[in-house]
Amino acid sequence: MSDAFPKTIEKAHSALIKKEISCEELTRHYLDVISERDGRIHAFLEVFDDASIQHAKRVDEKIVRDGGLGMLEGIPIAVKDNILIEGTRTTAASRILANYSASYDAHVIRLLKSAGSIFLGKTNMDEFAMGSSCENSAFGPTRNPYDETRVPGGSSGGSTAAVAAGECLAALGSDTGGSIRQPAAFCGVVGLKPTYGAVSRSGLIAMASSLDQVGPIANTVGDTELLFYAIRGKDAQDSTSVETKKRKKTGGLVIGIPKEYFGGGIGSGERKVIEDALALISNSGVTMKNISLPHTDYALSCYYIIVPAEVSANLSRYDGIRYGFTKEAGTLFETYVQSRSYGLGSEARRRTMIGAYVLSSGYYDAYYLQAQKVRTLVRQDFEKAFEEVDVILSLTTPQVAFKIGEKTKDPLTMYLQDVYTCPVNLAGLPAMSVPCGFVDGLPVGLQIIGRSFDEETIFELGKKYEILRDG
Ligand code: GLN
Repeated sequence: MSDAFPKTIEKAHSALIKKEISCEELTRHYLDVISERDGRIHAFLEVFDDASIQHAKRVDEKIVRDGGLGMLEGIPIAVKDNILIEGTRTTAASRILANYSASYDAHVIRLLKSAGSIFLGKTNMDEFAMGSSCENSAFGPTRNPYDETRVPGGSSGGSTAAVAAGECLAALGSDTGGSIRQPAAFCGVVGLKPTYGAVSRSGLIAMASSLDQVGPIANTVGDTELLFYAIRGKDAQDSTSVETKKRKKTGGLVIGIPKEYFGGGIGSGERKVIEDALALISNSGVTMKNISLPHTDYALSCYYIIVPAEVSANLSRYDGIRYGFTKEAGTLFETYVQSRSYGLGSEARRRTMIGAYVLSSGYYDAYYLQAQKVRTLVRQDFEKAFEEVDVILSLTTPQVAFKIGEKTKDPLTMYLQDVYTCPVNLAGLPAMSVPCGFVDGLPVGLQIIGRSFDEETIFELGKKYEILRDG
């Protein structure tokens, strides 16, 4: 990316206001980077060239007409392909929705439309947001801009790769068990999973409804914060969404370091990077405290029962009759079977079957009910810890980005990607990944976990850390 172009929303906004660049130039720059790089990266499933340019021209006219401009007005962003934009294709990277055109805007899209953001296009992902590598997309994998033989992470890997490759200024993703934070860590960008209920899920294609959240991805904490405050808030279409106020923290920050997040499985380079990051933070005058989250070991198993259960319910609507793809056969039953066998990829089918099994009357108590009880214990661990500390720090993932194809044969090793991220979703908490160093040229992410609806403290520490890091 040329240095003449601003790399953050804040800088782009000020360049637009001062007329140092036009919105059309800014937008064309990103479209040019996309056409130059995306043939290899494959972050985008669809690019809205003409619509973006038309929108940019309208923004330029407005600048000439009345000078003023909203903070996100004319800012080119990318949108994960499980978030509906009316009148455009929304596939969730599934064959079963390959020709589905959204009939309404997601709530977050409505908010960003009224803020004047420009949507450059829709980004690749794991099918229905199930996966950690973008390899479960029906339309081919995305590549990591730092090393094209490696995955960008998932499921929002298209959005994080697009930001990292300089193909957009910021992006939207979704996070059910780590899908914003893990790919943000792998691609060296910032990604926030908001508190459950902070952002409306209306118009987000459902994966596991008790865990899904839409969230922002950007180059800096400041930009991530801007985008978060633009999309959060109560929406009548999602009864789990609530109005929140910025919290004001008084007194010094107390940071918790959970011993369960620093055990085995961490690469030696990654361990050095996180220890250096923690030392930097601890030398800056905050209080660090060792804490314990004793049920951490059970969180992953619990997550991989609750998620398939909810997936099996949510994906039952894709029956080949009501939406998208239909493979007609002799009988109604055969039509269902053939449409779903062809339309859904192997991970979607695996989770649907596991989900139906754990919800079946003979096994409901042993699996689903038990997992719900464990979920409560995981949440209570955090509640207890937050009586003593204001935020909790860990690595976002135990290791840096892996090779394309390395984990596709073994779903269990893929699921282990979520070991530090999925407990946060089970507890409904906010958490952000911030780049904190490199191992062999590949980015490492620092995870900052906060109290419910206290994104503010996460941003404050994140911004402080960026200054310390960039020294
Ligand atoms: N990797 C996790 C999974 O496959 C997370 C997915 C997500 O957050 N959408 O379930």
